[in-house]
Amino acid sequence: MTLNCAVIVAENAEQAKTFKASALAKGAEALEFRLDAFSVIPDDFSFFAADVPTIATFRSESDEERKETFDRALAAGADYIDIEGDSGLRDIFPKEHVICSYHNYDTTPPENEIRTIINDLKSSGIPKAAFRVRGPKDLIAINDAAVTLRRQGQPFILIGMGEEGEVTRLRASDLGSLFNYCALTPKLASAPGQLTIDDAVWFGKNPVVTGITGYPLTHTFSPDIHNAAFKAAHIPGKYVKIPALPEELHLIPDVLLKYRITGINVTIPHKETIIPFLRKTDPLAKSAGAVNTILNTQNGFDGFNTDIMGISASLASVNANPKEANVLVIGAGGAARGAVAFLTREGAHVSIANRTRSRAEKLAQEFGARAVGITELQSGYTIIINATPAGMSGFENISPVPDRIFTKECVVMDMIYDPEMTPFLTAAKTAGVRAAVSGKTMLIEQAAAAFTIWTGIRPDRDVMKKTFEERSL
Ligand code: NAP
Repeated sequence: MTLNCAVIVAENAEQAKTFKASALAKGAEALEFRLDAFSVIPDDFSFFAADVPTIATFRSESDEERKETFDRALAAGADYIDIEGDSGLRDIFPKEHVICSYHNYDTTPPENEIRTIINDLKSSGIPKAAFRVRGPKDLIAINDAAVTLRRQGQPFILIGMGEEGEVTRLRASDLGSLFNYCALTPKLASAPGQLTIDDAVWFGKNPVVTGITGYPLTHTFSPDIHNAAFKAAHIPGKYVKIPALPEELHLIPDVLLKYRITGINVTIPHKETIIPFLRKTDPLAKSAGAVNTILNTQNGFDGFNTDIMGISASLASVNANPKEANVLVIGAGGAARGAVAFLTREGAHVSIANRTRSRAEKLAQEFGARAVGITELQSGYTIIINATPAGMSGFENISPVPDRIFTKECVVMDMIYDPEMTPFLTAAKTAGVRAAVSGKTMLIEQAAAAFTIWTGIRPDRDVMKKTFEERSL
């Protein structure tokens, strides 16, 4: 059984006792005291006596000081002392009281190497190995090693470190880890990806896990929005980031299965290349040839395109009806493709303008639309949609089209949500367009639709919007 273990990072014995009481009140099932955080090692070790297992961890240069401190901790009631595998002290204490640990802060080795490391540590006590996770390959290696170790039937602790390893902590119980190390408060977290004890208790042993894959995932607002929606819906759930390079995409289905991930959003650059891994795709996703949401079902993976639902809801929010409308879509990437698929299906007359004209022509041909050159663009559109990153934070701060195309009759939509106000929207508003909508609505609506696909519940959009605004500050 996995125990949620609160890591107590205190400066002195009094504070350690206060933190211990707080951790137990929050529901901690074990306590690790980081003695190396103390300014001075105290005489009073009474905090080690508890009704739950306690661990003394002390990284120090001096073996003599460590030995004496560990002896005192055990005498005071500590159940375990944590000693690194490369320490000369690892074999001098009774094995039943030793957690023999190994940390690799750079990488995760292959599964067989993880098992070799664990088997070596095992000779001195309970083996604990923590690896820096960078992507799906590492998550699979940790899971596969855990499967074999569970079969051997002896206790072990396996941790995937870093934000990318968070799912190993959410699924610590599945992995079979003896302890799930948790921070007492977010401020006291000693490692990225570590859960707080409040969250770990709230999640229980079987939280709903959803997330996002793509590359890079540094700028995404989706985790904030989804995690706020989980809390508001009182669902013990967490949305995690699983970055994957194109050559790693084929590993994502295995990660979804092995970590029982309910569903995942798919973003750049995988929205099209994920399709061969799916059992079926909904009609909107099929017509767009792009999927941004996957549902992990018992019979395989189902693909959806909630970006399109977000576009539809954004236009509806400003009473823009695409039927028979003259619509300009700027861009010819995945997002533009979704917009064109939706708009042509709704009966709009669609023109496409793109920096690389040949891509606009190809997209236009596929959907029976019209390609136009950016420099030739004139007014006459009733709906104009920017589906390029021009004006997005980290990209050129420009509008991708000339200002002359905006008129008082038209409605404009920018898919960019960071920043909410782009040069494109500013130019449109200056021209006095009938309505302008930022990418925020699309973001919230595509997230809300994905949330419903995964949980069957309509999330609280106001909470999602508020979270977006806090994140934008
Ligand atoms: P993509 O597949 O990479 O396509 C990008 C498109 O933008 C291409 O047509 C590209 O033209 C064009 N482009 C890139 N940089 C440009 C620049 N500096 N000036 C003019 N055109 C430029 O990306 P995507 O997935 O379609 O996403 C496009 C935008 O939509 C992004 O800003 C993304 O954040 C946003 N988006 C928002 C949401 C939301 O929920 N709000 C959802 C999905 C996407 P070339 O063909 O010449 O390279």
